[in-house]
Amino acid sequence: MNYYQQRAALLEHATQVEYGLIVIGGGVTGCGIALDAQSRGIPTLLIEMHDIASGTSSRSTKLIHGGLRYLKQLEFGLVKETGRERAVVHHLAPHITIPEPMLLPIIKGGSMPKWMASMGTLIYDFLAGVKKSERRKVLNKADTLAAEPLLSGLNVTGGIRYYEYRTDDARLTMALACTAKAQGTTVLTYTKVVKLMYQAGEIIGVKVIDRFTDKEYILKSEEVINAAGPWVDSIDEQDADIRKNKLVLTKGVHIVVDFKKFPIQQAVYFDVGDGRMVFAIPREKKTYIGTTDTKYTGDYKEPGIEEADKTYLIGCIRTAFPGVTLTVADIESYWSGLRPLIRQRDSKSPSAISRKDEVFQSATGLLSIAGGKLTGYRKMAERIVDIVAERLKLAYDIDTCQTEFHLLSGGDIAKHGGLDTFIAEMLPVLKAFGLDTNTAARMIRLYGSNIHLYEAELKHIDERLASINLPDWQKAQLQYTIKHEFVCKPADFIVRRTADFYFRRAEAEQYASELIKAMQLLLGWTDQEYALYNEEWLLFLKK
Ligand SMILES: Cc1cc2nc3c(=O)[nH]c(=O)nc-3n(C[C@H](O)[C@H](O)[C@H](O)COP(=O)(O)OP(=O)(O)OC[C@H]3O[C@@H](n4cnc5c(N)ncnc54)[C@H](O)[C@@H]3O)c2cc1C
Repeated sequence: MNYYQQRAALLEHATQVEYGLIVIGGGVTGCGIALDAQSRGIPTLLIEMHDIASGTSSRSTKLIHGGLRYLKQLEFGLVKETGRERAVVHHLAPHITIPEPMLLPIIKGGSMPKWMASMGTLIYDFLAGVKKSERRKVLNKADTLAAEPLLSGLNVTGGIRYYEYRTDDARLTMALACTAKAQGTTVLTYTKVVKLMYQAGEIIGVKVIDRFTDKEYILKSEEVINAAGPWVDSIDEQDADIRKNKLVLTKGVHIVVDFKKFPIQQAVYFDVGDGRMVFAIPREKKTYIGTTDTKYTGDYKEPGIEEADKTYLIGCIRTAFPGVTLTVADIESYWSGLRPLIRQRDSKSPSAISRKDEVFQSATGLLSIAGGKLTGYRKMAERIVDIVAERLKLAYDIDTCQTEFHLLSGGDIAKHGGLDTFIAEMLPVLKAFGLDTNTAARMIRLYGSNIHLYEAELKHIDERLASINLPDWQKAQLQYTIKHEFVCKPADFIVRRTADFYFRRAEAEQYASELIKAMQLLLGWTDQEYALYNEEWLLFLKK
């Protein structure tokens, strides 16, 4: 039985257990907390109302970074912590955290003179404890233009090359959820917390609704953490004692264009003339550009893209790369996410609001956490689980934080000599099943040391899929994600497990109908369910 088919039994079972901790929210924050708590010995239940990483945690710039720009805001503590976490996350999940050289061009009359950029990146290297081989290098004009010829035409005076790490945010979050599950956490997706439960003024659990059946359940625990990202305030509204209205949401949009239309040589972090900076990052056969930063009050689930977002980002490219003739019509795909930022007393512009995280404690016992970065998920988890551990120390035998040392699911590749040698080692294995080199390498990067589980699926393509017009490598991928990665609906696979929707959009639109048929066979959907999820997918595409 796969996860989808086990959900009802898992939910029934969960009603019989008294957990140490319930975590609300399956984004990077909630999954990081669940892993930290479970690995210390606290029996944990993680509840997500949609799919893992369906909120902000699949809609970021997809960088594990210290946030160079926060130096301008004098956020030294934040830069130091997240900067140092880059190396830790890279160590824990080297298959999905890849060193990415960044170019910071210096433009005459731009907002950042060369001395400032040079000093800033030097401080960044120091605070973040950057290893020698990845320390920043100051480039002269000729070297900058050689590194990125598309900048010619601008008054470039030089540049800085420094390193960040490229990730896949949804897969990092999934790796956390899978690792937590392997340690004993119960993970429930498509399960929405609709009510906080109290007894004698203390929180004792939650009421949830199964999004597939509409059935309600009461789930109990000693402690409850609200890690619902942009939804933190809406859950906290029910609690008498916690600070209300503590978030301000800002929307960030990224657009994806064909690499051939914007063929940058490496990631560039550039000044856009309004005091902001924007990333352009090559990935596979595409280049993505982002982000915007505007206050937001609309629908949290799908913030969407406005004409103004498109023209702003295209305008940024045309200003910084005068030879590039992109237009709005070149946008192939996009994603749009909400930053759950902590409201500050003085009303600052969106980009000036601090990205620091904060924990809120209620007299009822409820703990809430918001703010922060993908990069800092581990330290955020450590801080809040320290509070839980102190509260539960008499009930459980609780360890100190373990997460710096536990490799994440798929991350056990250092013993093979690193990612490149691991890929070289595994390529012939996958190619023997008929995968071409690019596809095989992509699978190895996606699954890391779990590639043997994918290989097992390649060996046993489910015979129910005989009539499905998809290549075996993709059938195996679907089988793998259904078995090991909580896939329940088409978008779980197409958008978050594979990122095909963003970076292989045409292929995704082409294979979707066969994939959905395959899902019906593997998940056992009725014809009515098939029609419903197919329709849901088509609606998503239209949006
Ligand atoms: C445009 C943009 C770019 C960014 N770029 C970067 C970057 O490059 N690097 C970086 O380090 N950080 C980046 N960030 C920040 C980072 O993405 C976020 O800090 C992080 O993803 C927030 O994760 P979260 O788990 O707190 O929230 P979310 O990922 O939104 O997770 C909250 C989850 O709670 C669930 N939930 C809500 N209500 C309920 C309920 N009632 N019951 C059950 N579940 C519920 C939601 O469905 C959701 O999945 C970026 C953010 C944005 C918006």
